[in-house]
Amino acid sequence: MKQSHLYVPTLKEAPKDAEVKSHKLMLRAGLIKQTAAGIYTYLPLGLKVLKNIEAIIREELDALGCSELLMPALQPKDLWDESGRWDDYGPELMRLKDRKDREFCLGPTHEEVITAVVRDVLTSYKKLPLALYQIQTKYRDEMRPRFGLMRGREFIMKDLYTFSKDVDDMNHWYETVKEAYSRIFERCGLSTKIVASNTGEIGGIEAHEFMVMSEVGEDTILYSPSSTYGINAEATTLQAGDMAPDASGPLKSGKGIEVGNIFKIGTKYSDTMGAAYQDQEGHMHPIQMASYGIGISRTLMAVVEEHATEDGLRWPASLTPFDYHVLPLTDDATATDAFYQRLAKSYKVLLDDRRERAGVKFKDAGLIGIPRRVILGKTFKDGFVELEVNGEKETLTVAEFWQSVNA
Ligand code: ATP
Ligand code: MG
Repeated sequence: MKQSHLYVPTLKEAPKDAEVKSHKLMLRAGLIKQTAAGIYTYLPLGLKVLKNIEAIIREELDALGCSELLMPALQPKDLWDESGRWDDYGPELMRLKDRKDREFCLGPTHEEVITAVVRDVLTSYKKLPLALYQIQTKYRDEMRPRFGLMRGREFIMKDLYTFSKDVDDMNHWYETVKEAYSRIFERCGLSTKIVASNTGEIGGIEAHEFMVMSEVGEDTILYSPSSTYGINAEATTLQAGDMAPDASGPLKSGKGIEVGNIFKIGTKYSDTMGAAYQDQEGHMHPIQMASYGIGISRTLMAVVEEHATEDGLRWPASLTPFDYHVLPLTDDATATDAFYQRLAKSYKVLLDDRRERAGVKFKDAGLIGIPRRVILGKTFKDGFVELEVNGEKETLTVAEFWQSVNA
């Protein structure tokens, strides 16, 4: 891809209201642009990374036998009256009316809609279990939208819902998805702690959160350094220094960014909205539900927060928008174009074809943070290129370069 065709509006300085590193860099590197408080446009470069995160999620969930669907953002009040959440949800719910004065909300989550989608069909044990997910825009009128994509009023979530005939099967899905979540975050370059949490407004029996430990996290986590025990501080009376309930040693506390959340719901929505199935003997039972969220836009932010330096982004190989960033510093457009065309046959390549000074190109390249950079400088006409991988530079002959990249 030619950089002159990609819209990457880099900034010398971050806007004053950006407080944390990831937010500053996402704005400076031209990944996102604020449209209103807590509402962002994903610019081409940011969108590419977002799509890479989504691809990893789809791969892992599809492998478990989950299928993707897409539900509406606009949801009728009637469904929320059925579950009782129209009154329970509070001011975070974005409410609106159509021209006939019928009430709607912009979905902050989709338990009601998914239950209404499946309840007429999942009426027999033969149809269970079922696992459905979507990747979709969510709306929450957050009291304090902040840190860019970390807490937005419009954000992108993957939400998965499982439907089981009994608690055992629900528990089985819960454990299977929990393991898949750890793999998803690991593949995104994030190490996560799994902590027990409150079941919140979704309602339910048991819940866990996936936390990226970080100074900028909004949650306080209590964890045992010598076991996997962890709990969100808001769900416990325990304190740092107390003995961990698994007796593994004293608890420590730290800040975490919640990138995912899983809930054993049980029958809250099946009971209120009438989702029941008939077993082999003809007896009716409510369907056991669980729901599982990943904040995709927040995950992108967490990746930046974890990997970037103060001066520029650093992408893990799994998420990088491009494999190579080619910086031609000479006027020989024919030779540089041929080089780019050949490399682009095997890799995702960004060619900085802009008519900018070398200093500008280097500065932007440092900001954008594509892990491999090829500089076609003064000695390119003599058959040399400079390869920079994660800051380590070496000079190669063009032949050596092609050999090293197998292209
Ligand atoms: P939080 O406690 O951070 O408000 P939540 O418990 O309300 O999150 P869920 O309803 O479980 O979150 O949503 C699933 C995931 O969506 C969360 O784990 C988080 O990663 C993401 N998420 C939730 N709210 C936001 C938001 N306002 N902006 C961006 N991502 C969000
Ligand atoms: Mg919330």
